[in-house]
Amino acid sequence: MHLETLAVHAGLQVDEATGAVTPPIHLSTTYERAADGTFPSGFSYTRSNNPTRQSLEQALAVLEGGAIAAAFSSGQAATFAIFQTLRPGDHVIAPEDAYYGTADLLLDHFAKWGVESSFVDMADIGAVRAAMRPATRLVWIETPSNPLIRISDIAAIVEAAHAAGARVACDNTWATPALQRPLDLGADLVMHSTTKYLGGHSDILGGAVIVRENDDWFARVKSVQVVGGAVPSPFECWLVLRGIRTLPYRMRGHSANALAIAQFLSAHPAIEQVCYPGLESNAGHAIAARQMALPGGMLSFMVRGGRDEAMALTLRLKLFTRATSLGGPETLIEHRASVEGPRTRTPENLLRVSVGLEHADDLIADLRQGLKG
Ligand SMILES: *Cc1c(COP(=O)(O)O)cnc(C)c1O
Repeated sequence: MHLETLAVHAGLQVDEATGAVTPPIHLSTTYERAADGTFPSGFSYTRSNNPTRQSLEQALAVLEGGAIAAAFSSGQAATFAIFQTLRPGDHVIAPEDAYYGTADLLLDHFAKWGVESSFVDMADIGAVRAAMRPATRLVWIETPSNPLIRISDIAAIVEAAHAAGARVACDNTWATPALQRPLDLGADLVMHSTTKYLGGHSDILGGAVIVRENDDWFARVKSVQVVGGAVPSPFECWLVLRGIRTLPYRMRGHSANALAIAQFLSAHPAIEQVCYPGLESNAGHAIAARQMALPGGMLSFMVRGGRDEAMALTLRLKLFTRATSLGGPETLIEHRASVEGPRTRTPENLLRVSVGLEHADDLIADLRQGLKG
């Protein structure tokens, strides 16, 4: 079945008690035992499992083509749970331009428990191979990357990692399963910040882990979810499920608008460089064309004149809201170096855009007036 159909139907059953087509939100924290002491519905206490969360987890597994999923209270909680399956002495390879929260977890929290990490340029498969150690247990992929929108070759990294006995996790937050399915390309695990495109409306915080096989590794992730307790509320699960119904159509709109803006900006004299894999000039274009259905809704660009000019542009734009995060219907623009903290390697003249679902012509008109200065 096609993704549009899966997105509409995944995790959805007509409610048996009422016939409701849209699923109810199950707020009860506790469930009645039968006379024999068992839980006939399979639910006992909402931290362990909840019907609304279970529907979301089923939908996520279907969309990513995985065996099973676990939902978390944020993307960071999902990443945290994955790293918590590691042991002292284990080694992780991560992208040098990984989401800064991922790098912060490895460096500020897991290093002191003896988990070592190397940060490499994942667009360079030779660098990935060279970083492998006997203790390497996990290779973390994030593509497209943040904020340079670089593309790494999932299938090639999987091959290198598996040959060295390491597992592969892919942060698929930016592409979403509508554009890229890492498990189909051989990855073992997919992580999401559902806060972004899956929720899709800038109104929930959530995360998820989806695995190819329901094995011991997933049991450890699941244990961190249930015992650690960083689970999403039923209402948030319900909102992510609602967002998923329209995901494939939203991703088409985001991608089409982003391509139009990238083309406009790359022809503009006030712009030094545009980072968007949909542009043929982009270093990641060929791999993106192979592993992604569309190049996505995220782009960044460098403004001539440095940090001051970049900042001034954001003040002149009327339709672009100055805010962090991504994946909602509204276009957001952000000076990334300012939010990434002391470890940032992001150029000071770089602005990142989460291209929304407004009409591309209106967004381009706004950029045109803003760039006139
Ligand atoms: C936002 C984001 C995260 C972190 O997710 P939260 O829901 O904010 O905890 C991780 N990876 C990527 C690529 C993100 O964009």
